[in-house]
Amino acid sequence: MPDTAVRYFGRCLTCGERSADTADADDGQTWCLRHAGATHHSAYELSAFQYFNANMANVTNPTANGAPSAT
Ligand SMILES: [Zn+2]
Repeated sequence: MPDTAVRYFGRCLTCGERSADTADADDGQTWCLRHAGATHHSAYELSAFQYFNANMANVTNPTANGAPSAT
């Protein structure tokens, strides 16, 4: 299971190349600046995402807890 902290990556919208994901948004942006310097590509997106662990043991039974009754 990977670290569940938010991760960031930069992606070039011109060629589709992307950075490795990183814990620091600044690192993703730095990759974009380096890529821009090397390629003169000028359009980027910086994305954040998060790994999470879906564990059914943590889910309460939805039919027993506040769901509308089927009447
Ligand atoms: Zn590019």
